[in-house]
Amino acid sequence: MADATPFPEALTEGYRAFLDDRFVREQDRYASLAEGQSPEILIISCCDSRVSPEVIFDARPGELFVVRNVANLVPPFETGGEYHGTSAALEFAVQALKVKHIVVLGHARCGGVRAYADDAAPLSPGDFIGRWVSLIRPAAEALGDEPRGPDYLEQLEFATVTNSLRNLMTFPCVKILVERGKLRLHGAHFGIATGQLRIRDPETGEFRLAEPDRAAAATRLIRCQDEAGSGG
Ligand SMILES: [Zn+2]
Repeated sequence: MADATPFPEALTEGYRAFLDDRFVREQDRYASLAEGQSPEILIISCCDSRVSPEVIFDARPGELFVVRNVANLVPPFETGGEYHGTSAALEFAVQALKVKHIVVLGHARCGGVRAYADDAAPLSPGDFIGRWVSLIRPAAEALGDEPRGPDYLEQLEFATVTNSLRNLMTFPCVKILVERGKLRLHGAHFGIATGQLRIRDPETGEFRLAEPDRAAAATRLIRCQDEAGSGG
């Protein structure tokens, strides 16, 4: 009888490539990491397959503690009897690993943010997405009642990152360490097509290009490739 549940071929191929290349290069690192991890950075990012923090930040194994959920949301601190996956990971990163930085990483074309903005219909009776993305409401309210412009979704993506940073400060363990200067919170936004990373200025709340010169060069390169492609 044929195997009814073959493991995805793309994954076995990728795993072979990992064994042949990265695992060989990082073998010593993996061996020492088996003793324990001590990442200094917690990243809270979206589940979106295009926004892998390890890829964007060219991170090595053991460097980033990553929590991914729909729309990179942090719920406010609460001790109700629900299941709090993100809060559990946050608690472990802050209390046990004692990370020094928390980065909330938003991104362009976020389906979770769009689902909130469009008030999308539930995908199932549980409406898990709808209930989860209702956490975006304070971010949307912060944008005010102005008519939605063409960049509304991007503005809501930025505001959602800011709202997650605000919610982080409702966790007593986070608030205390931030006030003592032992933990720093950061917001960022990844542009996908452009590769542009924007970092939130904590003073003004603006999201500014992290590497403006390089980002401009990358955009020129994309344009050249587009023109070369369209001319052929
Ligand atoms: Zn997303």
